[in-house]
Amino acid sequence: MFTLLAKRYGVVLLSTLGFFTLLTLSALSALSGCTENTSSANADAIVISSSANESQDKDLAPEPESKIVSLYSDQLTDTNKIAQGKKFMAVTANPHATEAAYAVLEKGGSAIDAAIAAQMVLGLVEPQSSGIGGGAFMLYWDANEKKLIAYDGREVAPMAADENLFVGQDGQTDKFFDAVIGGKSVGVPGVIKMLEDAHTEYGMASWASLFDDAIALATNGFTVSERLHTLIKAVPKVDDRERIADYLFDDNGKPLAVGHILKNTEYAQTLKVLAVNGSGTFYQGQLAQQIVAATKEDKNAGELSLSDFVQYQAVQRPALCKKILTYRVCGMGPPSSGASTTLAILGVLENLISNPEAQRGHYQGMEQDILSAHYFVEASRLAFADRNTYIADPDFIHVPVSQLLDDDYLQLRSQLISSDQPMTEVAAGEFITPDVGQYLMQPSPELVSTTHLSIVDQYGNVVSMTSSIETAFGSRLMVGGFILNNQLTDFSFVPRHADKTLVANRVQGGKRPRSSMSPMIVFNQDDQPLLIIGSPGGKKIIPYVARVLYEVLFFDSALISSIEQPHILNTGRQLEIEKGVGKNVFDALEAMGHKPVYKSQTSGLHAISRHNNEWLGVADPRREGTAKGN
Ligand code: GLU
Repeated sequence: MFTLLAKRYGVVLLSTLGFFTLLTLSALSALSGCTENTSSANADAIVISSSANESQDKDLAPEPESKIVSLYSDQLTDTNKIAQGKKFMAVTANPHATEAAYAVLEKGGSAIDAAIAAQMVLGLVEPQSSGIGGGAFMLYWDANEKKLIAYDGREVAPMAADENLFVGQDGQTDKFFDAVIGGKSVGVPGVIKMLEDAHTEYGMASWASLFDDAIALATNGFTVSERLHTLIKAVPKVDDRERIADYLFDDNGKPLAVGHILKNTEYAQTLKVLAVNGSGTFYQGQLAQQIVAATKEDKNAGELSLSDFVQYQAVQRPALCKKILTYRVCGMGPPSSGASTTLAILGVLENLISNPEAQRGHYQGMEQDILSAHYFVEASRLAFADRNTYIADPDFIHVPVSQLLDDDYLQLRSQLISSDQPMTEVAAGEFITPDVGQYLMQPSPELVSTTHLSIVDQYGNVVSMTSSIETAFGSRLMVGGFILNNQLTDFSFVPRHADKTLVANRVQGGKRPRSSMSPMIVFNQDDQPLLIIGSPGGKKIIPYVARVLYEVLFFDSALISSIEQPHILNTGRQLEIEKGVGKNVFDALEAMGHKPVYKSQTSGLHAISRHNNEWLGVADPRREGTAKGN
């Protein structure tokens, strides 16, 4: 059945990489130096001591506190968090971007057209999260050809960079923000190339017209939202470089106030040039020169060169899909760890939840069902151990994706999970590849920013796109009115371990850093898209998206209630419970042996589901996104 689907729709299921990988069942016992307890693993295994890793648990880019206002509540009736439509639908992180996408769809444009218009606006009104200075992953479903494409517009490291990019002369790794801010963390941005490639194949509206709304808004100004104001105020070192300080702070050095009308004529000018000339200006012309100069001349200089820009290619990769229950769930394979980790979580859960049908109609969320929460966090811990160990850029590293998602392997992994207590230690499975040996687990310290948009057009085409400049406000460098990414800090700062074993996600020239971005599309047995979803949130993107898929696909939860349910998650470090969850839940998990901590969670789950012949769009109540359809 799987193979048939793969042949029919050109989708590579669990992409085979054509190399021999041996699964050793001793994988299922603990491996010293490869366990979830990274502090002891670091002590045992890492040559270079890592301050970057120590910083991972701190709220370095604090988000505004979660506001869990019910999506069913009257308070939300005017906020367009939910929309229904028979023809088309757009859900994005900002009302202006949703309007821009809607306008394109209403005029008969395609989902790709609408995504381009929305991205250009997001780069203006949500500059902390994404833009043409960053990268993106996009799943595109072509309804006519019944073809799923995964576009990789991820940033690329300069060819001159090597594994010691974030290692000083003294052998110490950089502190996280010392690495983030300035030219060193900037990779070649991929958004414009990826969108142009997709438009060439699937665009219907003229390329230039898709920039109009963003140009008008940048020229006339937009109102600084509460969220943008709060982030300018709360995120560390936003004013660390002159141009961004001039743009986002007032004459007294204060963060721009809520309600301030912010114009960005430089961004308008950049967009006008891109609208007319396309990506050539960005990769071969003036913008490339400006970006290279900005990163090279910065006091924390980077190694980007013009030839890195000339060589940049967005890549079309096979989508990574797995059958979960009766559904085909698809996402972005490596260099993103999004789909492989999400599908591994769901695959393990499929083995644990033997009779999901029995719970349909009764399930009321993890708060009411501690066992479902326990299984979810345990499955996540196992999947993250594998993710941290093996996932990196497949053009540089043999990633054993098909083995990690193999049904027998996931069944064995599920047997490690007990129903009444957490695993004491979690190890990655042991896969030995002939050329590189085993990779040891090495997390990288991604922090939360990013944006996700979900779009369906009137022809049934679908876009699920997650786009990012990495941490909030990226590298703090601005060129042409937009912020440059700091995506290179998604690499492991530590390149190798004490035994000289290489870290899969170490820096290499021309390589793409590992991501957690998880744009997903779920199909039914007739290959109709049923659910389109994704989120920002750094590593937590994966459990944010996986929990909603778990609840909706396994227990038939309503999409709206699942999105607004509080998060309970574990990315391999600690069990986090979203603030607002009752103490009884905390106590019940603690009584099982977990060590929960309360943390605010700022997912930005932007999803569309299909019910009969109608689309339902839902924007996460924790952020300022909206849904609009017709
Ligand atoms: N840079 C991260 C990644 O590519 C995303 C960061 C975020 O969502 O906040 O996975």
